[in-house]
Amino acid sequence: MTVRPLIAGNWKMNGLATESSAELKALIAKLQAADTGACDVLICPPATLVFQMAELAKGSNLNIGGQDCHAAEKGAHTGDTSAAMLKDAGATYAIVGHSERRTDHAETNEIVKAKAEAAIAAGLIAIVCVGETLEQRESGETLSVITDQVKNSLPAGATAQNTVIAYEPVWAIGTGKTPTPADVAEVHAHMRGDLNGLMQDADGVRLLYGGSVKGSNAAELMALDNVDGALVGGASLKAEDFWPIVETGLA
Ligand code: PEP
Repeated sequence: MTVRPLIAGNWKMNGLATESSAELKALIAKLQAADTGACDVLICPPATLVFQMAELAKGSNLNIGGQDCHAAEKGAHTGDTSAAMLKDAGATYAIVGHSERRTDHAETNEIVKAKAEAAIAAGLIAIVCVGETLEQRESGETLSVITDQVKNSLPAGATAQNTVIAYEPVWAIGTGKTPTPADVAEVHAHMRGDLNGLMQDADGVRLLYGGSVKGSNAAELMALDNVDGALVGGASLKAEDFWPIVETGLA
């Protein structure tokens, strides 16, 4: 890895207060017992738990983030959460453009870009997700799809400090399938090249891999060039499953 890694957990729509607090406390205890100076660790709980988890994480090395934010600062958007609200609740990051949002909520690159810009304007670090479908991979379109998404979802004013890119092949999310290490390395090198044409400090931007990362495959994936961390869904829900993945960032 060339830059400070980020190991991020996305709890998606999972977790009620009691069980989630117990898992978060278990993770914080592990972080406190380890030397985590070399790695950033993040949990993105559902919006209902951001405040509570951020309170629990206060004083530890664990960061808390949102899973999405609205592009507007405030207003008539029933059911949505603004980036400023996430920040106010204690978040320091926001995921935007996760494929489940792109699919379930018809989020386009333009919407994702606006959300990332809102996150940055509120003082959050935006984690912008990109990734091809199985159909696109099988028809040889992966790299062009990734270029399109990176180019058009990248927030204006993106820097290595305020933006992270997560490559998450749609077909690898929650399926137990992962691309080969060579395929991951190819896409990550390609994304680095794209970013180099779009911003000044592209070499410092953290490029995460996401899609069925678990303790058993994390080390191999994290060792690849241009892979600077992981975005983890299912295996982030339990501290004991997430911890071996975090350890690959500490190594
Ligand atoms: C995700 O939700 O971003 C994800 C990668 O999920 P999973 O690890 O469960 O595939």
